[in-house]
Amino acid sequence: MSEFHIAPLARLVEQFQRLPGIGYKSAQRLAYYVLGLSDGEVKQLTDAILEAHDKIHTCKICCNLTDQELCSICRNESRDHATICVVENPRDVVAMERTRDYNGAYHVLHGVISPLNGVGPEQLRIKELLDRVKSGTVKEVIMATNPTVEGEATAMYLSRLLKPIGVKVTRLAYGIPVGGDLEYADEVTLSRALEGRSEL
Ligand SMILES: [Zn+2]
Repeated sequence: MSEFHIAPLARLVEQFQRLPGIGYKSAQRLAYYVLGLSDGEVKQLTDAILEAHDKIHTCKICCNLTDQELCSICRNESRDHATICVVENPRDVVAMERTRDYNGAYHVLHGVISPLNGVGPEQLRIKELLDRVKSGTVKEVIMATNPTVEGEATAMYLSRLLKPIGVKVTRLAYGIPVGGDLEYADEVTLSRALEGRSEL
C-alpha cells in the first residue's frame, strides 16, 4: 500500500521532505514514526515546534537567536564587548563557543552576499553591525565568515565599510580548507584560526 492513497499521510511525507537534508526515504520513515507515536508524544513534538517558532527571534544587539530581548552573550558582563566576531549564521556562534577560547561578542549576518543567489548587502544584518561599531565602544571586528568565495567577498565588503570608522578589522587565519565550513571545523582548528588572525 502506498501512502499516496492516504491523503493525510502523503501530506506528512511531503512536509518532512521539505526539510533540509531529508530525501523521500527519510521523509517516509519519519512520517511512519510519527504515526506510531501516542497522542501525548505527538503533542510534545508539535508544541516544541510551535513554541520554538513563536518565542525565538533575533537579539537586539548581535542578531543571534534568543528567546529574550538580548541573547545570553550580550547580557554577559564578563565578556569583552569591545571585540566583535562576525559570523554567517547562528550555528557558527555555537562552533566558536565550543572552542572556549573566545570571550568577545558576536554579530550574526544571517547569510553572505551572493549575487548568484540574489542576496545583496541590504538583506543581511550589516546596518546593525555598522551602528554598533559607530557607537564607538568597539575596538576590533574579527571577520569569521566561511573561507568560500562568497564568505571572502563579504569579509572584504564589510572591511571596506568598517575601516573608515577607525576600527581594527581582522580575518581568521583558516587552517580549514578553502570552501570549508566554520561550523564543521574542529575546536583545535578554530582556536588556531582565531589565535593566528591577521589584520585586513
Ligand atoms: Zn546578542
